[in-house]
Amino acid sequence: MIGVIGYTLSWIKLEEALKKKPEIIGLLPIGSFEQHGYHLPFSTDSMVAWRLATMVEQRLPEEVVLFPPVIYACSSEHRGFPGTVWVDYHVFIEYARCVVESLFEAGFRRVGVINAHGGNVQALSVLQRMVNLSGRHAGKLYVFNLTEFRDLTAKVFGRSPPLQHAGYSETSMLEYICPECVDHEGLARMKPEDFKTTSKEVFSIRPTREVSRSGVVDDSEPFQHGDKKLGETLITEIVNAIVERLKDPTHA
Ligand SMILES: [Zn+2]
Repeated sequence: MIGVIGYTLSWIKLEEALKKKPEIIGLLPIGSFEQHGYHLPFSTDSMVAWRLATMVEQRLPEEVVLFPPVIYACSSEHRGFPGTVWVDYHVFIEYARCVVESLFEAGFRRVGVINAHGGNVQALSVLQRMVNLSGRHAGKLYVFNLTEFRDLTAKVFGRSPPLQHAGYSETSMLEYICPECVDHEGLARMKPEDFKTTSKEVFSIRPTREVSRSGVVDDSEPFQHGDKKLGETLITEIVNAIVERLKDPTHA
C-alpha cells in the first residue's frame, strides 16, 4: 500500500514510492459541474469519475496513487441552466496540462485520466496529443473516457441511445453511487415534453437549453427511472476494463 488517496499522502512517502516503483500511475478523475435535469446534482459526473477512480485504486493499491478530481471543466453546452459552471476549452486544456505536467515533474511516468463527462472528450484528446507528442516528457498520459464504454452501456441497459444526458444510465449510476443524491420529486416532475428531443444538433451546435426543458436528453418513452443494480453492474464492468488496460500499458 503506497498511500490510500492522493490527498492523504505526504510528499516524502510519494517520493520514496516513485523512486522504488516509477511505473506507479497517477490517477486523475475529471468530471464537471453542470445541470443534470430536475433530479440529479450538478456534480454527477465528478461523483462518477471519483467513484470509478477510487474503485480502480482499491483494485490496484500498489500501482496507483489517486489524486483529487478536476471538477470545473467544459460544460458550455449546458449554459443557461442556472448553476452550471464551465471554463473555455483552451483554458481547460492549459489548466489540465499544468496538472498533468506537475505529476510528470513529481516523477510519475504514467498519468491516467478517468473522465466521466462527454463535453471534455475532445479537449482531452487534444491535451493527450499535446503532452505525449511534445517531445518534452518521458511521461505518458492515458485517457479513459466514460463515452468509450458505450458498448458496455448498451449491453447492460439493453439499449443504446445516440446521445444521452442525465438519462436512464446516468440516473442508474447515481442510484448506486449515492441514492440520496437522486431527487425522486424531481423525477416525478418529468413529462415526455420535458426531455424528449430529436435534435441531432444538441451539444455541438445548440446548447441543451434550446432542445430540452428539463436539461435531460434521452430517447426513452416513458422516462425510465434509474436502476441501482444496473448502475452497479455498469460501474463494475467499466472498472474491470480500466484495470485490465492499466495492468497492460501496451494496450492502455
Ligand atoms: Zn453527466
